[in-house]
Amino acid sequence: MQAQNLGDNLYMLDNGMVRQFFVVGPDKVLLLDTGFEGGSVLAAVREVSEAPIQVLLTHGDPDHAGGLDKFGEAWLHEKDWHLVEAETKLHPLQEGDTFRCGDWNLQVIEIPGHTYGSVAFGDFDKKVLFAGDSVQKAGPIYLFGSHRNLNLYIESQKKLEAMADRFETIYPCHHACPVTPDFIGKNRLDAEAMRAGSLPSEATPGMPCRTYHGQWTDFYCTEADRTRA
Ligand SMILES: [Zn+2]
Repeated sequence: MQAQNLGDNLYMLDNGMVRQFFVVGPDKVLLLDTGFEGGSVLAAVREVSEAPIQVLLTHGDPDHAGGLDKFGEAWLHEKDWHLVEAETKLHPLQEGDTFRCGDWNLQVIEIPGHTYGSVAFGDFDKKVLFAGDSVQKAGPIYLFGSHRNLNLYIESQKKLEAMADRFETIYPCHHACPVTPDFIGKNRLDAEAMRAGSLPSEATPGMPCRTYHGQWTDFYCTEADRTRA
């Protein structure tokens, strides 16, 4: 896996299933997510920089935090700590925390829903948002199971929508990349339509969920999760 240079000291790793992003500063690297267990994220970052790596996690799902065992410590919202199996030392993340690297300033925005500990990292000067799995074009966005919550997801989309004009570029970890900030509102509208019962759906082959087809985004959800209070 080879890092793609996106300019402005920002790099992207993409194995075709999930992406990580990293910023290279003069004396450190900020790495957003670590990919699947057994992946080659660390080696790929090392081809670009030998500087110490600070790991920030958008959330605790195994395609984002699975590769943590190769890193000594990481920052993750406490509500997702139970999802992590690696023995890596975890530090909490919370709203407003800021991580600097070179001239990047990544600010933590709590966006629970996809998981209870999901966060986005926004650089308001560069107008860039790293939204993990919570903003996507086409999707599917995973919203089924006990560690996800559709109502919170909709509230978090509203929160991001209120600051959408401060961003120009959103980097999702799956599917189309980058996407424009209007997909925050489009994801919210589709999620509200799913909650209201107005999206067509069918059972998802090989998965314990249904696929709901929104106008702009699909979701993996269940009737129980869709109607949960
Ligand atoms: Zn994911």
